[in-house]
Amino acid sequence: MRTCCKNREIISTNATLLCLFFYLFYLCAMKNEQNIFDLLSSYGIRKTNFRIELLRLFLQKGHGLSHKDIKEEIQCMPDKVTIYRALDTFLEKGIIHRVPDINNVSKYALTNTTSTQSQHNHAHFICKECKKTFCMSEIQIPEVRSKNGFAIESTKLVLEGICPNCNSN
Ligand SMILES: [Zn+2]
Ligand SMILES: [Zn+2]
Repeated sequence: MRTCCKNREIISTNATLLCLFFYLFYLCAMKNEQNIFDLLSSYGIRKTNFRIELLRLFLQKGHGLSHKDIKEEIQCMPDKVTIYRALDTFLEKGIIHRVPDINNVSKYALTNTTSTQSQHNHAHFICKECKKTFCMSEIQIPEVRSKNGFAIESTKLVLEGICPNCNSN
């Protein structure tokens, strides 16, 4: 009888822990969802299901994404025009920016909203193994002064090597 009660107690504790775990997981998911909504609002971007999915993908991945990457990752994929339009809007509003790619494919990455410095004035890192492009927001490109009448319009700094993930494999 005693053992039975004890077992019941253990089962009940486990069930409580499991409920708590799911509740925390739910809270976390809701907070992420709210962040996505807030981020879209702060950039003045209309919230459609696809744009929410697209932003979620950029937030999850943390590296540059091409059209192909987006197509492979998002389940309910709309037509090509919708994808291009959403990316154009994101670019125009500055929530994403173009990043260099090892094969010169168009790739985009999320703009670092916490950085106070110029958002596009940072270095990019291309991994030679996985071919992913990462924003190096902490590495700012130094200002280059023009000489002999050359009008510099933009400067780029691309670093190549092996990313931490490939390095550990
Ligand atoms: Zn890599
Ligand atoms: Zn970047």
